[in-house]
Amino acid sequence: MHITVFPAAQIHTMDPGRPHASAVAVADGRIVSTGTIKSMQPWLRRNTYEIDDRYADKIIFPGFIDPHTHLRYSGVYMGLNYVGPIDSASPTGLRKGLPTRDAVRNQLRSLVSEHDDSSKPLTAWGYDPASQEGHLDRDMLDAISDTIPLWVVAYAPHIVYVNSPMLKLIGVDEDSIGHGLGRYPDGRLNGWFVETEAIARATRPVADSVYADDSGSQAIERMGAVAQRAGLTTTADLGWGFSESFEKEWADHRSAIDNDKFPLRILMIPFEARLTRDFGDEAINYLAGKRLEGDDRLNTHGIKYVNDGSYPSMTLVMNQPGYLDDDTAHTGEIPWENMVDRMRPFWKAGIQIHSHANGDRTVDMTLDTLAALQLEHPRFDHRFTIEHYCLSNPSQAKRLAALGGLASVNIYFVHYRAQLHSDRGFGPDRSEATARLGSLERAGVTFALHSDFNLVVTPLSPLTAAWCAVNRLAADGSTVMAPGERISVDRALRAMTIDAAHVLNRDDRLGSIEVGKYADFTVLDDDPYEVNVQELNRISVHDTVLEGIPVTK
Ligand SMILES: [Zn+2]
Repeated sequence: MHITVFPAAQIHTMDPGRPHASAVAVADGRIVSTGTIKSMQPWLRRNTYEIDDRYADKIIFPGFIDPHTHLRYSGVYMGLNYVGPIDSASPTGLRKGLPTRDAVRNQLRSLVSEHDDSSKPLTAWGYDPASQEGHLDRDMLDAISDTIPLWVVAYAPHIVYVNSPMLKLIGVDEDSIGHGLGRYPDGRLNGWFVETEAIARATRPVADSVYADDSGSQAIERMGAVAQRAGLTTTADLGWGFSESFEKEWADHRSAIDNDKFPLRILMIPFEARLTRDFGDEAINYLAGKRLEGDDRLNTHGIKYVNDGSYPSMTLVMNQPGYLDDDTAHTGEIPWENMVDRMRPFWKAGIQIHSHANGDRTVDMTLDTLAALQLEHPRFDHRFTIEHYCLSNPSQAKRLAALGGLASVNIYFVHYRAQLHSDRGFGPDRSEATARLGSLERAGVTFALHSDFNLVVTPLSPLTAAWCAVNRLAADGSTVMAPGERISVDRALRAMTIDAAHVLNRDDRLGSIEVGKYADFTVLDDDPYEVNVQELNRISVHDTVLEGIPVTK
């Protein structure tokens, strides 16, 4: 065995028994020893070794894990022009957010002026009607260009906006009918295409450029670079089966990962509604086969349920007194009264359940379901995980602990959205207490932090997630949202390393720097335990290491 030793200014192992080290020794992709060069002499004396001191003045962590993303889905849009409200990572660096609708219009104008072929549509991604001052529409886009077809998809891609030349290309006119075609009050088409069916229609003429044959694997490769810059070494796709066939999506990931420069491990978590539709009673066998075919770079894990809408689109399901104005709640495609029946086969087969619940009413339903499953067929260490856990109360955290469940939480909303929803949708109490990590910690629930990139308007940046969790600073930059729900730097860092690995049932091999585990590291320029907590999100990621090999050599 040939050993490579990486000395560092500090190594945070996330092994509470041996939390710090100044060197880590690696061989064949695994960790051989952590400690000091002196302490690891019993290994170094018996083997050949080299000292690689490229990180000698850096800080090493276990590789960051984002346990809930949609990279294939988001990577497709990442290739388009950007018009979103927040600073967004891209393969070539950070793209600046545009704060207002006027700024977006200016940006589109400047893209139009550089666009030389007026027959070719101009495509853009990232619009957010809630934070950029209202929707775009056909007349607005016609004022930018009435010759070049314009196609703009929202950041959370539930709506497409187009101008008149694009309507013509799509082949839609005033007489067209179809679900999701938007109209002005006078009945004229307003250039909106809302949700799956209408978006597919609007996208056909740009499909060649937006979704080429190899767009899936290209998207994954593109997002691999984006995620690596954010410090990730592992993620899970919580929407396997969302966009194409299970096999096609798997093959796209396989081909991206077989390119040996791809810097991530990916776990594919199948979407139960599609899995059951495609495979029926064979679903569990199909997953068992995939698990055998997979390895520690690409594999399948668990099963995913979606049981309400989203936080930014205000479609989650709340307890009394409900929404401030209209009730826009959405319960997902499986009727709640069927939930125990739908989860039972997977629960009995020992498969880990990841169940999306944003609203506190949905959290109650999810806990009731877990309690019923436990009563029928008790399981230990089942790791049933509530995904997102946006609106909740402290008693739910205790009940989740009592039932042995976990949480994977979107913490970014506390900063990016919560204040907005105080007077829109959720009301002040629930908005302020969005993502109650403090309550989870007090109840003893293991939890992870995730981005859900890009199905909601948040960046992909674990250090920004940690900053949100530790400071709970609202978008105004000064209000602390529910201060008792803040957590420590240490807890936040656990939530993106060892506890995230626990949520993905991979803490036997990932998530900490311990002998025998994979040598996946995130290398930082500054130490999160040493900087002012308000500066956590400014720490830069210097590099990542996957199986002992530095990614940016
Ligand atoms: Zn998601």
